Parts: sequence; C-alpha cells; structure tokens
Amino acid sequence: MTLDAQGMDATDRAGLNGQAPRCDHIDQLPTVRYGPPECKECLALGQTWTRLLVCLTCGWVACSDDSQGGHAKAHYQETDHPVAATLGPRSTWRWCYVHWRTV
Ligand SMILES: [Zn+2]
Ligand SMILES: [Zn+2]
Ligand SMILES: [Zn+2]
Repeated sequence: MTLDAQGMDATDRAGLNGQAPRCDHIDQLPTVRYGPPECKECLALGQTWTRLLVCLTCGWVACSDDSQGGHAKAHYQETDHPVAATLGPRSTWRWCYVHWRTV
C-alpha cells in the first residue's frame, strides 16, 4: 500500500498531458511594492536596457536578459528570488528562473 500511495502522488504532481509540473513558486509570492522603473545598476554603469523586469519577491527592478546588463538574472543569482515579471500595468508575462520558463 505504501508503494501505491507514493506512485499516485508522483502522478498527481506530473501535471496534465505530460506537461512539466506547474511552477509552485508563484504561489509563494508576497505582495510587493515595485521599485522605480529603471535599472539602477545600468544607470550606475552608464548602460541602457531593452526591457525591465521586476522581481516579484522583493520588487527590485532590473534589466532583462536581452539587455546589455542582464541584471534581473544577476539579481536571481544573488538572491534566489525565483520569479520576475515584465514591468508594466498590463503585463502578464512572468518568468521563473528555477523552472526556466514562463509561468
Ligand atoms: Zn518555478
Ligand atoms: Zn541593468
Ligand atoms: Zn528580489
């Protein structure tokens, strides 16, 4: 019986239609106040950015991977904050660095 129960549990977590398990990081996010719409590290370096992302764990705003600096990714590597979103009132795009996909 113990083996059966574990088997069912694993199936549960696998998700539908062979998709990857859903990202549980987005369930753990607090409500944060976003920082100002600028990448402070780019400003300090005199660089420009393509897009801005906001860390949904702490509200830190930094430039996206396709910007010269890639400071949002650097923020994840420093802090382990897993999920970033594009900055903008209507944005629904969210990226989980741990699962390495949109969530
Ligand atoms: Zn995730
Ligand atoms: Zn930057
Ligand atoms: Zn953060």
